[in-house]
Amino acid sequence: MTSFSDFNLNKQLLMAVEEVGYEVPTPIQEKAIPLVQAGHDLFGIAQTGTGKTAAYVLPLLMKIKYAQGNDPRVLILAPTRELALQIESVILQLGKYTDLRTVALYGGLGPRHQIAAVEKGCDIIVASPGRFLDIYLKGHLVLKHIKTLVLDEADKMMDMGFMPQIRRILEIIPVKRQNLLFSATMPDKVVELSHEFLDFPEKIEITPQATAVETVSQQLYYLPNMRTKINFLEYFFNENKEELKRVIIFVKKKQTADNVFKYINRLGYGEARVIHANKGQNSRMNAVKAFSEGEVNILVSTDVTARGIDITDVSHVINFDVPLVYEDYVHRIGRTGRAKKSGIAITLCTEAEKYHIEKIEKLVREKIPVKRLPDTIKITETPLEEKQDMDREIDLQKRKDDPEFKGAFHEKKVKFLKPVPKKGKKGKRR
Ligand code: AMP
Repeated sequence: MTSFSDFNLNKQLLMAVEEVGYEVPTPIQEKAIPLVQAGHDLFGIAQTGTGKTAAYVLPLLMKIKYAQGNDPRVLILAPTRELALQIESVILQLGKYTDLRTVALYGGLGPRHQIAAVEKGCDIIVASPGRFLDIYLKGHLVLKHIKTLVLDEADKMMDMGFMPQIRRILEIIPVKRQNLLFSATMPDKVVELSHEFLDFPEKIEITPQATAVETVSQQLYYLPNMRTKINFLEYFFNENKEELKRVIIFVKKKQTADNVFKYINRLGYGEARVIHANKGQNSRMNAVKAFSEGEVNILVSTDVTARGIDITDVSHVINFDVPLVYEDYVHRIGRTGRAKKSGIAITLCTEAEKYHIEKIEKLVREKIPVKRLPDTIKITETPLEEKQDMDREIDLQKRKDDPEFKGAFHEKKVKFLKPVPKKGKKGKRR
């Protein structure tokens, strides 16, 4: 299995990758990162949810390394402001330990702040084509240092009628550059664009397994917090003692994996093992082998197993956390219900994870049936810290969809932090 340290990325980027919690590269990252680093033009067919943004952002951050001059060197075009902001936020997260400056330009807001941001100097511009051209035509952009152009969600850009703007942009940026084109589908218009735009491209196609397996019964439970999820596990093991053959519990973080494992071990409903990226290769392989051979019947795992290891014929999959790489949902539940056997895939979801469920439902093109939480499950109160984390997460999601949204959580914080003006003091300092 490839790891991020196998790529030629510097310490600053690896630290950021670790911090955002990516443990192993997704398939598109595995393929695209080395190709972009080698300087190829790229034609990537991949949907949102596959990790495609980091697949180009990481090698591009590595390529331009640190802040330089005033003018942008990378231009990323996206069809909507929602996507532009999402890309910008990935760049900010992964570029956290670099001094690279990124500006997002999109419509719907007045251009004043965006122009001011550009004029302060930037290395990367993420933009919707219309607003980018507006600001260029007003004379605020110098484009002669652009060495990389990315078109993200090219199919959507074509659908939205952006072709004329894109053609115009291709005329005003330097001819000698690296081009990357990403599209979820491959209609004729996109193929045509690729001929115009790409120079001997490498093609990568990540075929989404976007239909959930029919023999799997999917169940979605809404719960308020992590502790209640743990209570759910106790209920689940109690109720299903007889039918449990092989259960995989998927979690997002290593720490959660360890905690869930300890808890289940204490419950004593079977032989359990835990695997995640911090466990050595041998220990992981042994756990998987023991699970496949039936010696172990409960496996707690982060996404490492979901992608890398072939375990099938599982009776129950429990998504303790909703997966953030949406395709993982399909891969995870695909481990049950193989070969016409029926399986059960349970997903536990908090208010803060609902956003991702909606995206997963879009990907699998079906609604995941919601089940009522059984009365016997103890609902634990949400600790303050967890509540704040969730509020912050929800604010962030709302802001992705609406950049002008001012989160309740942040408003409160700002109010709290504002110094109270004291009586008798003179007015504002000039
Ligand atoms: P994208 O397809 O770029 O929209 O990414 C979808 C989601 O996957 C985002 O929430 C990313 O933060 C997350 N993601 C991207 N790469 C990885 C990775 N290697 N491991 C775990 N999550 C990832």
